[in-house]
Order: sequence, then C-alpha cells, then structure tokens
Amino acid sequence: MDVQYDVVIIGGGPAGMTAAIYASRAGLKVAMLEKEAPGGKLIKTFEIQNYPSIKEMNGADLAYQMFEHSTHFGAEYLYGDIAKIEDGEVKKIIAADGTEYTAHAIIIATGTKERLLNIPNEDKLTGKGVSYCAVCDGAFFRDKVVTVIGGGNSALEESLYLTQFASQVNIVIRRDVFRAEPIIQSKIEQESKINLIKKHIPVEIIEQDGKVGAIVLEDVDTKERMTVETKAVFPYIGADPNTEFAKDLGIMDKQGYILVDENMETSVKGIFAAGDCISKVLRQVITACGDGAVAAQSAFHYIKG
Ligand SMILES: Cc1cc2nc3c(=O)[nH]c(=O)nc-3n(C[C@H](O)[C@H](O)[C@H](O)COP(=O)(O)OP(=O)(O)OC[C@H]3O[C@@H](n4cnc5c(N)ncnc54)[C@H](O)[C@@H]3O)c2cc1C
Repeated sequence: MDVQYDVVIIGGGPAGMTAAIYASRAGLKVAMLEKEAPGGKLIKTFEIQNYPSIKEMNGADLAYQMFEHSTHFGAEYLYGDIAKIEDGEVKKIIAADGTEYTAHAIIIATGTKERLLNIPNEDKLTGKGVSYCAVCDGAFFRDKVVTVIGGGNSALEESLYLTQFASQVNIVIRRDVFRAEPIIQSKIEQESKINLIKKHIPVEIIEQDGKVGAIVLEDVDTKERMTVETKAVFPYIGADPNTEFAKDLGIMDKQGYILVDENMETSVKGIFAAGDCISKVLRQVITACGDGAVAAQSAFHYIKG
C-alpha cells in the first residue's frame, strides 16, 4: 500500500505549526490539515506579550509568521476537517467530506473550543451580537456597550482590547475575585471604560430587532435578576478539547484531553498529541510550541525505528 505521508498533523495552531517545522526540517514528508484558518487561537488573540523575544505582537501577525515558517521546509498545508482516525500499521485520517489520508504517524494538535454559556438566545444570536472572538468582532461595536463574561486571563485581555472601540465594557464574574494574573488585573483596574459586575451569572440574552439588545444577570447570593443593556456578549468562560474524532482510540481522560507521556506519545503507537488538546497544566503559545517540537521529534524516531 502506498502511504501518502510520513506524518499527518491535525490542526494548524502553534502546536501543529511547530510540529510541521520540526518534522519537515528532519526530512519527513508532512501534511498539516486545518479546518479553519492557519494560526489557531493566535488569530483570535489581540496581543501576545509572553512569547520569548517578542515583547508585544498582534496574535494574527505572529500566526502569519509561524505559518510561513511552518511550510518553509516543505510541509504541505491542506484544508481538512478531520472526523475520524483509524489505527493500524498505516494510519488513516478521514475528513468530514470523506477525503482520506494515510500516514505512518499522526500528531493531533487540535486545541480547544470555547465553552458556551448555554442560556436562552445564545445560539440564535451568535453572529448577531454574541461572539467568542473579540479580535474578530470587537470593531463592530464602536461606541456601544459590550459585555464580557468571565474573569480569567483571556476574558480580561480581550476586555482591554474591546475598550478601544466600545463606550463601556461590562465584565461579569461569578465570584468577587478574578482568576487572571495580577498584571492584567491591575490594567483592568486602571481602565475607566470597564464596569465590573461581580457575583452575577448570565441567565438570558434578550433579542432586540434580531440582534443582542440586553443580557439578564442573576445575583449568585440573592437570586435577584437585573437586565443590562448591551449590544454584544463575549463569553470567555473556558474551553473544552477538540478531540471527538479520536474518541474510539481510548487515549483521553474524562474531559476529553489526550493523555501523553513525556515524548508526547499516546498509548497508541505512532499517534502523538501536542498543545492545548493534551492533559497538562499550562495552556499557552510557548507550551504548545514546545509540545509540537517534542511530538515531531518523537514521530521522527518512531518512523525511523
Ligand atoms: C483570547 C485568547 C487570548 C490568549 N492570549 C494568550 C497570550 O497572551 N499568550 C499565550 O501564550 N497564550 C494565549 N492564549 C492561549 C493560546 O492561544 C493557546 O494556548 C494556543 O493557541 C494553543 O495552541 P494549539 O496549537 O494547541 O491550539 P489552537 O491554537 O487552538 O489550534 C488548534 C487548531 O486545530 C484546528 N482544528 C480543531 N479541530 C480540527 C479538526 N477536527 N480538523 C482539523 N483541524 C482542526 C483548529 O481550527 C485550530 O486552528 C490565548 C487564548 C485565547 C483564546
């Protein structure tokens, strides 16, 4: 049987792109399959300030540089929404449209997807004021009131980004303290456009003329509800791994994160994983890149015996 690739990398975020650099530079025939645009979460990030040697850069710019680098040594970049993997001496990677790829090794680098609020009208108004990407949609809300849900690093970083456009940025948090790093918290405290709403949870989004018009918030202690006018809702309440397509392989923990050893190898020989989709402590660009490098090197050793 003709095997198309030495390694197929699923996902074109920082982990996948780094794996592509290392694997192709080592002389392997590599394909990187991506279902959206290359860059992964980087293209949804306003500013990166913690990637060594880059003090401050727009996420999309860093994504573009990484993408150019990732194909520089010959890795092929292809569109593919992967729906299934079949194990065997030769691995099969099957896309949702039925296209099949074969490879000796696979690196799964599919990251995570944003968690939904699961409240009335969220789904209906997605794209009509509900957005999971401030960088993509923030500019639509110039001089409008917008509302961010969540108190972690992503929520606060993106709230700061939104202050460029919005007249006011409400931040709704369940507790009365943030989870974000102190450096980001202190920036939030200095920003006059930020309006903090503590100890509340969102319970409903109100539609107005087919778009977001307001959000109903509930006090976590008293259960009292209030309606806050807003033209946009940006939920940043965490994420879950994009790993459904690999569930038959039995390589995940209960939350769906892929379990790997220090070589980024799963319990299935020849299947490796890297980045935000694996079970680990710190999900950042630098750690995703590190994982991608290790996974590619391990795939190289696996293929070369
Ligand atoms: C708003 C925000 C701000 C952030 N700020 C920072 C920061 O300042 N500094 C920092 O270091 N980190 C930051 N992060 C985290 C960082 O972006 C991630 O840790 C990093 O992008 C993870 O890289 P990854 O390659 O593992 O996954 P991702 O970047 O998520 O890439 C995964 C890719 O896989 C693709 N994919 C998924 N499923 C499939 C499939 N079935 N078939 C094909 N392709 C698929 C996706 O489309 C995606 O492109 C931020 C994240 C967010 C959301």
